[in-house]
Amino acid sequence: MNDIKLALLGSEGAGKSAVLVRFLTKRFIGEYASNTNSLYHKRLSIDGRQLNLEVFDPCSQDLCVPPTPWQSEESRCILEEPLDWADGFVVVYTISDRTSFLNAKNILAQIKESRRETCKGEVPICLVGNKQDLCHSRQVSEEEGRSLAQENKCLFQEVSAAENYLEISNLFTKLIRHVMEQLKHR
Ligand code: GDP
Ligand code: MG
Repeated sequence: MNDIKLALLGSEGAGKSAVLVRFLTKRFIGEYASNTNSLYHKRLSIDGRQLNLEVFDPCSQDLCVPPTPWQSEESRCILEEPLDWADGFVVVYTISDRTSFLNAKNILAQIKESRRETCKGEVPICLVGNKQDLCHSRQVSEEEGRSLAQENKCLFQEVSAAENYLEISNLFTKLIRHVMEQLKHR
């Protein structure tokens, strides 16, 4: 049985918990506890292999916004733990909130920085532009999301946790496959 550890990162309110709960339960509930760190467990089978999935859903790391990224000690403490722990990351922003996109950009840089010496291959990450249903108030184009993902060699998908399950499920499956590949080489 493989153990796979993922961490969700992104601005408070970006929809981390909504995306994760959608993946784990196929449901959208609407409101999610935002004041605690949560660790979710799920057993699943991908490509005929049994996996023990653990996903860390932190309460918030909204403090790391330009132009003074990573300045706050508090934001460092919140982030460093999942950075060391996880095998792969889901970085979530909201397409209707530019600040959350800039925050995602910083988080990607932080992940790369912290993994540079420890990880030989690429760090499995997927960048998720959430709340696609709010495209009437879009502040981040799909193209911008895609090119940020390309620059950082990560998967990318715009999704709506409120309206869709399949895209989110496919994205997690791809990420988990990528993690399994990386773990083989360790
Ligand atoms: P987190 O702080 O990143 O975990 O964000 P939450 O998952 O708690 O979501 C923040 C708010 O955005 C909640 O009110 C959710 O109901 C809402 N939300 C999450 N995903 C979507 C989505 O895809 N579309 C819309 N319209 N609202 C969403
Ligand atoms: Mg949350």
